[in-house]
Amino acid sequence: MTRIVIVGGGLSGLSLAAQLAATDHRHPVVVVDDGSRPIEAMTWASWSDRPGLLDAAASRWFDRIRVHVNGRTKVLRLGGYRYRVVNGDDLAAVVRRYTGPLRHFTFQHGHVDRVEDDGVIVDGRHMRATWVFDSVIGSPEEPPVDARLVFRGWHVRSERPAFDAEIPTLFDFRTPQVHGASFVYVLPKDEHHALVEHTSFTAPDAPEDVTAQREALAGYLTEVAGTGGHEIEREEHAVLPLRSRQADRRHGNVLTIGAEGGLLKASTGFAYQRIQRDSAAIARSLYDHGHPFGLPEPPARFRLFDGVLLDVITREPAQLERAFGALFRYHTAEPALRFLDEATSAPQEWRLFAGMPAATYLAAARHRVLSS
Ligand SMILES: Cc1cc2nc3c(=O)[nH]c(=O)nc-3n(C[C@H](O)[C@H](O)[C@H](O)COP(=O)(O)OP(=O)(O)OC[C@H]3O[C@@H](n4cnc5c(N)ncnc54)[C@H](O)[C@@H]3O)c2cc1C
Repeated sequence: MTRIVIVGGGLSGLSLAAQLAATDHRHPVVVVDDGSRPIEAMTWASWSDRPGLLDAAASRWFDRIRVHVNGRTKVLRLGGYRYRVVNGDDLAAVVRRYTGPLRHFTFQHGHVDRVEDDGVIVDGRHMRATWVFDSVIGSPEEPPVDARLVFRGWHVRSERPAFDAEIPTLFDFRTPQVHGASFVYVLPKDEHHALVEHTSFTAPDAPEDVTAQREALAGYLTEVAGTGGHEIEREEHAVLPLRSRQADRRHGNVLTIGAEGGLLKASTGFAYQRIQRDSAAIARSLYDHGHPFGLPEPPARFRLFDGVLLDVITREPAQLERAFGALFRYHTAEPALRFLDEATSAPQEWRLFAGMPAATYLAAARHRVLSS
């Protein structure tokens, strides 16, 4: 009897469980999670131009974003896209709507020590599986880390009405560059509450400077947002390894999923939407072919673009503002979002790249191609 084990019940594990339930998948599915990253503590923001299975989990939708780049603030419409926010507990509740009525779905608390070809070791005991989807242990040979995305965010309450509740700020470069190309991201809740995040692309071996990040956040809140005083309700922090080269996701009957499966977009650190598409493709492949490996591959040039951008900005951090300025120079953010979604054509990409220093990027691309 076919049995599926999903290692990790975070974003990718739960998204895959929902997709399997929705594709009328009849075999037993066990999701194992040790609770080390509580889902309730997670919030994901992402953009999308199409309906998705878990859309009911989104608590907020935006049709505009704000950017501050090259000395100018601009509000951009999103065209066919919407930017939305999903809280972890809402995601879990929507996933339960799909899996709850089905007796062959089990959610088990347990720590996975190891993944093997014929199953997983959970709390020291072997659990047999035909297919393992692993969002935790990862592939034995991971591609090199090109850069790291280091972010520290404060959920703040401001004294004055400092935030625009209707428009998130995707990037604002009015902040000190802390060991790499840095900007501030603002996700508002209302006029007095927001998540304000200092985000840096750093070299893989750059030190992390917590004091400088906190000073940058405090400075932004006072000088740019104009909070007139603020209270920090919660702090979040993460360091995400960015890899532009594709991980080998398949090992025997094991497929790595989620961030471990390389679904973090190396030039943005966003993964939510990619994980949704990947989960749907895995469920479809199992249904159509009886195995989960019939997954579409986006054109390889997008990985090259990501790698080249990371090479350039880790050497010359000021180039990030220039690159974002070029990508988001239109009256709508749609062309840039479509490019970051890896859904543009080559002529559209050349138009977007105009305004970036061609010699710098071509030299980095040449170096990358020759050294691979
Ligand atoms: C703080 C933070 C904020 C982010 N915000 C965004 C965002 O806004 N938008 C976006 O697109 N991307 C965002 N990302 C990137 C990415 O979308 C998330 O990291 C996403 O949660 C990745 O999904 P995942 O399933 O790979 O990992 P996770 O969601 O982390 O799931 C892994 C699960 O495995 C469990 N686990 C861990 N070890 C074990 C073990 N040994 N045995 C059993 N279970 C185990 C954990 O409890 C967890 O539930 C963010 C990342 C971080 C860290």
